[in-house]
Amino acid sequence: AITSKDLQRLFDLIAEDIAAHRDHLCELDGAIGDGDHGLAMDAGCEAAAKAVAALDPGQAAPTAAFNAAAKAFLNAVGASSGPLYATAFMRAGAAVKDRPDLGDEEFVRAFAAMAAGIQERGKAEPGQKTMVDAWKPAADAALDALASGASLQQCFGLAEQAALQGCEATRDMTAAKGRASRLGDRVIGHIDPGAASAAIIIASFTRFIH
Ligand code: ADP
Ligand code: MG
Ligand code: MG
Repeated sequence: AITSKDLQRLFDLIAEDIAAHRDHLCELDGAIGDGDHGLAMDAGCEAAAKAVAALDPGQAAPTAAFNAAAKAFLNAVGASSGPLYATAFMRAGAAVKDRPDLGDEEFVRAFAAMAAGIQERGKAEPGQKTMVDAWKPAADAALDALASGASLQQCFGLAEQAALQGCEATRDMTAAKGRASRLGDRVIGHIDPGAASAAIIIASFTRFIH
């Protein structure tokens, strides 16, 4: 089962993977936004990892780890990704409330709750060139795989694939939400930065469960 000590490792992996892609994410955002997405995600993920590491793993439940990550991410990030990921981590925390550790099914449900939280908070639908285009298909793929009895590795392998496909598909879209929505057809041909960082984070989940 997955404990809050394990979640500490998950948040460390996410922070490490986002940091490695920081400049690339800023470049993607520079093309269709204000160029800060890599900095925002790097600051948020590092703050989240530090906050989770500061908890006493013997005492803290998984819900406390997600809640600490949410608060830290929100405080560290001034961009629109701040409240979106804060809500994602809050929802993951709520999904695992009162559990001392997480079985496979609970962990997949926490992951899917992140996607639902982002969608609810930002009110974006798939096809609007946002991070939802990576998160929603990834969560759906993981839940479908779970329902058909797949292993945790299989669930996240499929989620990662779906996220990458979803991210790539944003290239052909115009944007209906966020800064890029002001640029009309000029954003066609560019990947959405939020979908790209989502695919990185989802790949960190895969790395975590292996
Ligand atoms: P900002 O635009 O405030 O600088 P960021 O650069 O951190 O924020 O994040 C931009 C990303 O946020 C976009 O690429 C998009 O994926 C995502 N985004 C913006 N608005 C929404 C929304 N309403 N719902 C979901 N995602 C959104
Ligand atoms: Mg930006
Ligand atoms: Mg900004």
